[in-house]
Amino acid sequence: MPLDSIYTELITEHSRDKRNRRHVEGATCSHRGVNPSCGDELTLELRVQSGVIEDAAFTGSGCAISQASASMMTDLLRGRPVADANRIAEKFLGMIKGEITDEADLEELDEAAALQGVSKMPARVKCAVLPWHTYQQAIADPPGNPA
Ligand SMILES: [Zn+2]
Repeated sequence: MPLDSIYTELITEHSRDKRNRRHVEGATCSHRGVNPSCGDELTLELRVQSGVIEDAAFTGSGCAISQASASMMTDLLRGRPVADANRIAEKFLGMIKGEITDEADLEELDEAAALQGVSKMPARVKCAVLPWHTYQQAIADPPGNPA
């Protein structure tokens, strides 16, 4: 199934966008995610203060879908309380699994909803979910805070 051309454009735009591709100053957690089936790898960095994701960005390389998904995700998560971000991550993963298809429900995903078509492309699913799984691991497993 071909992705809608507007969506394709959004994905291309985001995959080239450098704004979110950087290190996070004073990052409090980071996690490296790899998708061996495609060769995507990225390291997500977050700065979480008082339960709010103050900044989020990533480094690494991969296909357009994984890079666009990471860029859209960091845009979405930045400035949000962690609980809110976790809920959005669940929603995105539900969309890609084809479990959430209601447009009104997906509105909250903003540009990331452009990746909905990926749910019909089994070979690309792992690319799209890589940044989000990496986020879940980063937030669940913050590094120790040595005294
Ligand atoms: Zn990929």
